[in-house]
Amino acid sequence: MGEQRRVAIVGAGPSGLFTAAALLAQAAEPPAIDIFDRLPTPFGLLRYGVAPDHASIKAVATTLARVFEAPDVRFLGLVEFGRDVTAAELRSGYDAVVYAVGAADDRRLGIPGEDLPGSRSARQFVSWYSGHPDAEAQPLDGVRSVVVVGVGNVAVDVARILLKDPADLSATDMPDAVLAELCAARIEDVWLVGRRGPEHAAFTTPELRELLETPGIAVTLEGCDLAAIDDAGLERHARANLAAIGRALAASPASAPRRLHLLFWHRPAELAGDGRVRSVRFEPTGGGGAPLTVPAELVLRSIGYRGVPLPGVPYAEGRIPNLEGRVLEPDGSARPGEYAVGWIKRGPVGLIGSNKKDAAETVAALLEDLSTLPHREPADLEALLAARGVRPSTLEDWRRIDAAEIDRGGLRGRERTKIEAWHELLGLVRGAPSVHRDGDVRPA
Ligand code: NAP
Repeated sequence: MGEQRRVAIVGAGPSGLFTAAALLAQAAEPPAIDIFDRLPTPFGLLRYGVAPDHASIKAVATTLARVFEAPDVRFLGLVEFGRDVTAAELRSGYDAVVYAVGAADDRRLGIPGEDLPGSRSARQFVSWYSGHPDAEAQPLDGVRSVVVVGVGNVAVDVARILLKDPADLSATDMPDAVLAELCAARIEDVWLVGRRGPEHAAFTTPELRELLETPGIAVTLEGCDLAAIDDAGLERHARANLAAIGRALAASPASAPRRLHLLFWHRPAELAGDGRVRSVRFEPTGGGGAPLTVPAELVLRSIGYRGVPLPGVPYAEGRIPNLEGRVLEPDGSARPGEYAVGWIKRGPVGLIGSNKKDAAETVAALLEDLSTLPHREPADLEALLAARGVRPSTLEDWRRIDAAEIDRGGLRGRERTKIEAWHELLGLVRGAPSVHRDGDVRPA
C-alpha cells in the first residue's frame, strides 16, 4: 500500500459531502479528506436552502454525515476560501482539490426599481427563514401582497411558506424570530409570475401540487387559458402540471383570506414605489395579453441562482469550466489535480440527490488521474491559518451546535430549533475568538 493520498474539498454542502462519500466508496485506497467550509456547520443548501417544512429531504443530512465517521475525514469550518486560504496553498498541500462551493449569488432582472427596499432575492428570503447566520431580517410588517417572479421550485417554496398558516410551520426548525415574524404577518395575496406559459414552467409536479393544496387558500389563474393549451406534444411532467392547476382551480373556493394568483405570459417591466416597493408593472410576453399593475409590498426575485468566481480558479458564466469535473483553463486544457462538482460545475439546476451522480462522475475523473498526480507534502495548514488568526472549527464544534439546536427545539416541543446568530454559533465553537475583523462578524 502506497503513501495515503490527500484530497481537499472546498464546501461541505451536499455536493462536497457526496464527493467525500464517493471518494471513500470508489477509491481502492481511500484518501485522507479535508472538507473546508466558511461556516461552522456542514450541509450547505440542505441546511440553508431546503425548505424547513421539507423534513424528509433534510433527513438526507443523516446519511451524508456518515462521511465524517471515516477515520481520515476532517471538517474544517470557519475557513473562507480565497481569504483564509488560497487556491495555490491548497494545490501545494493536497494531491487533489475539489471545488464544491455551489452558487452563492442570484440572477438579476435588470429593470427599474429592482433595488427599492422591499425588493429582494428569493435566495435572501430562503436564507432568512432557514436561519443562515449571514441572512438579513426580512420584516413582513405592512406586507399584504407579495409578487414572486419566476416559476421554479424556489418560487414555489417561498410562496408556500408565505401562504401557509404559520401554525403549520411551528413544528419546523425555523428560528424563533422567523416564526414570530411569520405569525405576525398579514399576507393576503401571493402572485407567482412566469414569463412563459404554465406548460413551460420549471417547477416539478409534486412541489406544485403541495403549493396548490395549501389549506385555506384560493387559487386563480391569469394571463392564460388552460383549456386553450394544446397538450399533445408536451412532456409528461408539463401535462401533469397543467392537470394539477386545472384541478386546483376547480376545487378552489371563490375567495379565501389568503390567495395564490398564478400569472403567466408576463414579465416585470418596473417596480414602482415611494422609497419602497408599492407595485409591479407587468408587460405581456404572449400574443393576447394585456399590461397589468399588481400592488406589492414585497417582491421576491426567484429567477435562478448564480455561481460566483473563486480567486485563482477559472470561471465563466456562473460556473467553473470543466470536463466531467476536471477544471479547464481558458484555452481548454485541464488543470491537473483540480476538480469541480455540484452547482459550480453544472449550473444551479437539479435536486439535492442530483449531486450524487454528479459527484460520482467527478470522483471517477479524479481517481483516474490520481496515479499521474504528484504526491504533495502536507503543508502545515494549521500553522498557516493560525498565522492569519484563523482557527478552524471542528466536527466536535458542529456536534455541540447540533446538540444545542436539538435542546432548544426540545424546550419548544420540536425536533430542532435553528441557532441563527453568529455570536451564539461562535459561542458554541470551542476557542473561537470574539474579536471581529474588518466589520466581519466571523472570528478573526
Ligand atoms: P429554476 O428551476 O431554474 O427556475 C427559474 C425560473 O425563473 C424559471 O421559471 C425561469 O423562466 C425564470 N426566469 C429566469 N430568468 C427570468 C427573467 N429574467 N424574468 C422572469 N423569469 C425568469 O431555478 P430555481 O427555482 O432557483 O431552482 C434551482 C434548482 O433547485 C432547480 O433545479 C429546482 O428544481 C431545485 N429546487 C428543488 C426544490 C425541491 O425539490 N423541493 C426546491 C427548491 C429548488 P424560464 O423557464 O422562462 O427561463
